[in-house]
Amino acid sequence: MDTVTDSKDKGVATGQEMTDGFNLLIDALKLNGIDTIFGLPGIPITDLTRKAQAAGLRMLSFRHEQNAGYAASIAGFLTQKPGICLTVSAPGFLNGLNALAHATVNCFPMILISGSSEREIVDLQQGDYEEMDQLAIAKPVAKAAFRVLHADDIGVGLARAIRAAVSGRPGGVYLDLPAKLFAQSIDAERGRKTLIKVVDPAPQQIPAPDAVKRALDLLKGAKKPLIILGKGAAYAQADADIKALVEKTGIPYLSMSMAKGLLPDTHEQSASAARSFVLPGADVVMLIGARLNWLLSHGKGKTWGGKGHKDWGGQKFVQIDISPQEADSNVRIDAPVVGDIRSCVSALLAGMGSNWPKPPADWLNAINEKKTTNIAKMAETLAKDPSPMNFHSALNVVRDIVKANPDAMLVNEGANALDFTRSIVDMYKPRKRIDVGTWGIMGVGMGYCVAAAVVTRQQVIAIEGDSAFGFSGMEVETICRYNLPVCIVIMNNNGVYKGTDVNLAGGPDVAPTVFVKGARYDKIIEAFGGVGAHVTTPAELRKAMEEAVRSKKPTLINAVIDENAGTESGRITSLNPQSAKKK
Ligand code: ADP
Ligand code: MG
Repeated sequence: MDTVTDSKDKGVATGQEMTDGFNLLIDALKLNGIDTIFGLPGIPITDLTRKAQAAGLRMLSFRHEQNAGYAASIAGFLTQKPGICLTVSAPGFLNGLNALAHATVNCFPMILISGSSEREIVDLQQGDYEEMDQLAIAKPVAKAAFRVLHADDIGVGLARAIRAAVSGRPGGVYLDLPAKLFAQSIDAERGRKTLIKVVDPAPQQIPAPDAVKRALDLLKGAKKPLIILGKGAAYAQADADIKALVEKTGIPYLSMSMAKGLLPDTHEQSASAARSFVLPGADVVMLIGARLNWLLSHGKGKTWGGKGHKDWGGQKFVQIDISPQEADSNVRIDAPVVGDIRSCVSALLAGMGSNWPKPPADWLNAINEKKTTNIAKMAETLAKDPSPMNFHSALNVVRDIVKANPDAMLVNEGANALDFTRSIVDMYKPRKRIDVGTWGIMGVGMGYCVAAAVVTRQQVIAIEGDSAFGFSGMEVETICRYNLPVCIVIMNNNGVYKGTDVNLAGGPDVAPTVFVKGARYDKIIEAFGGVGAHVTTPAELRKAMEEAVRSKKPTLINAVIDENAGTESGRITSLNPQSAKKK
């Protein structure tokens, strides 16, 4: 039977076949290959969640909409299909909105679908149950926002939402569905005809030949070229072409956080261990799906060899990006190549011909020298076994476990827990590392864990700061409920950044950054039937992680870290107003 007719109802009185808003939405989702919904039931969408499950969709219920939303956003990143988050009206919608903004900012395709109250009452502000003009509120943080008022527009509404989410630069889309819509009954045959299976939702965007040539000319003349891979490159799933391009050019590369593993971090061309040498040293930099935002010091200043804080370092840039507006957003881009990454990279490869010159040896040798020194220094730090355990000695274990399980997904958030993990734990395969993204936010952790486990069906390892974990910790129940292979490691240093701050007024309250000392996070998962472990040494951590990966059971490891370990704001101390003042 055609999927579209799966959920039809028989009109009782007339014998005419009828359908309704609930069924049309479900049929429209299925027709477009969407098989999972991340959400939280409640008025007016409770029945929708039941019916979706009955119709064969995977309906994953969370404890808070923000986490369902983050799950949807990262599912979008991992699959190139819009991740669907379903929420109730006003407060549920607002809880989901954070993730919608996150999806838009990070260029992840996602659709937030929220039920809403009666239009007539909302628009006259007559005080309906959970009254709110959700469409207006969603617009500024969404790539696009739509409302559907009639059941026979559901097909068009979803088609527009899908296209907006995945075409061009992906982003978050809001779809507003007022309560009344769901119950609207229409003739099933007519309803069927209103549905749209979106053809070619993310059309290829082929770069102009002269743009490709301009980029190649610039690269060819470079004495100290560098490639920077961003999460746009990871999203594009053009892994083999990207690897071929990097290897054929012989150009050293840096991976942005979520692009780690696109080529293995241990690849001989990886310049990660010489980052602070190659950025100021390079003369031509090719950005592939990476923006010159704060994470790259806006392409200028001391990081890039500029004298002052806003000085240009002298580099020339090639930028491959699907958004024609991205170039020149911070510094001059000499060779923008606009198109989807797969098309751009294959056009560059084709244009390179067969005897492309390798970069000058003195540049490569200088990088290798730096790398060797820095890697040796790091090895020395990692080999130490201080008591109490610190970030390095704990992450040395995580590094080994990830190496032994290169298919595992790594979720990572925190301040120090983030920075240290990113630099210590090597990644070996594309799209295995998912983290705080463009905003550097906390709170993505458990939502990402659920989505990563469900979408990839791989083991998930989450490295969490104790503070970061708190934002989504209740989803441990969700992880246990669905029995997902998730191993959460909490780097517990008793607080935000570290646990040693004191109350400057000397009063009875602890400092704002300090938590309960010696907290036993492992007990939380035990409440839901998962495995808890409390560890204080690297050896214990290793044993607990190995057991988690072996058993695939939901596991939470409370890893006690020296409460003196950690710096304020991790590596972005400079963004604190006090330090900014000193600049
Ligand atoms: P990172 O934080 O890893 O540096 P960013 O999120 O800053 O990455 O940059 C990702 C870039 O990739 C965005 O500018 C986005 O427009 C671009 N992008 C996303 N998907 C594609 C694609 N399929 N083809 C080309 N560019 C893409
Ligand atoms: Mg902490």
